[in-house]
Amino acid sequence: MKLGTKLIHAGVSPDPSTGAIMTPIFQTSTYVQNAPGDHKGYEYARTQNPTRNALQDALAAIENGKHGLSFGSGLAATDAVLKLLNPGDEVIASNDLYGGTYRIFTKVFQRYGIKFHFVDMQEAKNMAAYITPQTKLVWIETPTNPMLNIIDIAAVAKIAKQHQLLLAVDNTFASPYLQNPLDLGADIVVHSATKYLGGHSDVVHGAIIVKNDELAQQLAFIQNSCGAVPGPQDCFLVLRGLKTLHVRMQRHCENGEGIARFLRGHAKVGKVYWCGFDDHPNHAVAREQMRGFGGMISFTLKNDDIEAAKKVLSNTHLFSLAESLGGVESLIGHPASMTHASIPREERLKNGLTDSLIRLSVGIEDIDDLIADLEKAIG
Ligand SMILES: *Cc1c(COP(=O)(O)O)cnc(C)c1O
Repeated sequence: MKLGTKLIHAGVSPDPSTGAIMTPIFQTSTYVQNAPGDHKGYEYARTQNPTRNALQDALAAIENGKHGLSFGSGLAATDAVLKLLNPGDEVIASNDLYGGTYRIFTKVFQRYGIKFHFVDMQEAKNMAAYITPQTKLVWIETPTNPMLNIIDIAAVAKIAKQHQLLLAVDNTFASPYLQNPLDLGADIVVHSATKYLGGHSDVVHGAIIVKNDELAQQLAFIQNSCGAVPGPQDCFLVLRGLKTLHVRMQRHCENGEGIARFLRGHAKVGKVYWCGFDDHPNHAVAREQMRGFGGMISFTLKNDDIEAAKKVLSNTHLFSLAESLGGVESLIGHPASMTHASIPREERLKNGLTDSLIRLSVGIEDIDDLIADLEKAIG
């Protein structure tokens, strides 16, 4: 089955008691048993919920995995993956990560004796120098946030396999419409479903997808033991969002390209970061592992003018100034003071994340109106 069909049909079937075509929101905490231990497969809603199960099965299918697990947020999903580790274990992570991921690694899990190495993995072989007998997990994000760098998933997976390390890929920016890390050799896919999967800026949700049965069992144990599970209404919203992912992503990609080319041609714009440009440093890898280039773009103004950037940030009307991304509506953000404020300034600058950098999540509005909005704000 192709993705467009899976997005609509995977995991869901008419409700057996009514025939309802949409999976009902099973707003219940517990399930009645006929006799002790004699039940319909559902005992307590932290452990199982039919709405969540439908979503989890859909998530597994669309990432070409076998098992899906839903969480209360993307970071709750990240937290569950990190809980596979023990004190003394080491993690190699790419050095250009979502700010909240960097924060949970350094401020939470470092305290429990897990060691993190942040490495520029645009060259996969850079990670080799950091592998020790304690290394257990490799964590990457591609395209990266907000610099839109590309990491070669298959190349990283190859090195990880040679050393028997788990590879986790945060696939939030690409979504399964553009790339499937499990097909490229990753062991674990993580999503903030708050973004493209949900797609309507109306829910916070996270997901993990794996192929391996034993890994799935360990993660399900953590999901149930730690309890960072989503409610059934949120599962319903993500399930509904999934049904249009392919249609939305197609438009995100078209609009993204239109805006990237507009910005590049603008006299007041400095650098434009978008992995679809032929001269993007890892464009060839993007072309190989992705089916399009998405709707995320970052740019600076000429001379890195912070005051001019602030003016742009407060003068768009269709692009709303807000954190987050991946919804149908366009957003504009300032990573240095918003999404990436939790990363120390020197760390940010090392990766090119300057104070004037502006990030766009290009929505699916009419491209002419979006360009006119930016044109007016940039002046
Ligand atoms: C938003 C985001 C997260 C965190 O997800 P939440 O749902 O906000 O907890 C993780 N990774 C990336 C790339 C994100 O954009």
